[in-house]
Amino acid sequence: MTHQICVHTDDKKYTELKVEPKEFSSQSFTTLTHGTTSNLDALNNQIWNDSETIYWTNDSDYEFISEKDQIKLIKLALLESSFETPLVIRQRKRKSADAQLKINWLKMKDEPYFKSTSTLAFGYGPGKGLGGDVTMNADVLWLLRKPSQPKLTVKEAFDLGYIEDYNRDFPNSTVKTFDPLHTMKHEAGGHAMGMRHIEDVAQKSTAIMYPYYNGLRKFGNADKDYLWELYGKSNLSQRIKDILLRRIFNF
Ligand SMILES: [Zn+2]
Repeated sequence: MTHQICVHTDDKKYTELKVEPKEFSSQSFTTLTHGTTSNLDALNNQIWNDSETIYWTNDSDYEFISEKDQIKLIKLALLESSFETPLVIRQRKRKSADAQLKINWLKMKDEPYFKSTSTLAFGYGPGKGLGGDVTMNADVLWLLRKPSQPKLTVKEAFDLGYIEDYNRDFPNSTVKTFDPLHTMKHEAGGHAMGMRHIEDVAQKSTAIMYPYYNGLRKFGNADKDYLWELYGKSNLSQRIKDILLRRIFNF
């Protein structure tokens, strides 16, 4: 089976690839009942059936975010896709074979799609096997920082163990960090749900599904319109949505 994946980058070229998976994340399909429906507007030309629960697991580790925060991060990344649509998305706590979305954190030496740290992550569109899986580049400095926090200096980053060395002549130069919630949401909340990129340049600072990193944490109108086009709307009130969205910004 061929899968369509999206590779999300910092500022270089992004790519949509067709790949033949060598291994399957959800190894056994004997208990897998989640289905997909054909939809030519979706990545991999499929969307999830909304009549069943979509499960996810966090498969590997990233050294600078605690396991507890990784779980919270994934939940928050999927939150808006879940409450804006009829989809039900849950964490599967045991590493069972019928999980639908697998989140990986892999270093460049372990993942051939990561050619440099400007390739931040990639994700598969809906489908069986690798469908919906997300891989984050573990060689990128992902830090959970509030958007209002000042940039980290190289000295602070060194003292905290995030970098191995720095130029002592310029201790106050800042280190480039990335918001994992933005990228996880682009990959898991977006591509894994079947959203392709929104390439309209006018949306570059308002759409999470714009191909390049823009640090947004909340879907813009274009993102939501696309999601609703694929799945329809939930009937949750705006007041409840606003309460849920606050969690994303307070993380
Ligand atoms: Zn992408």
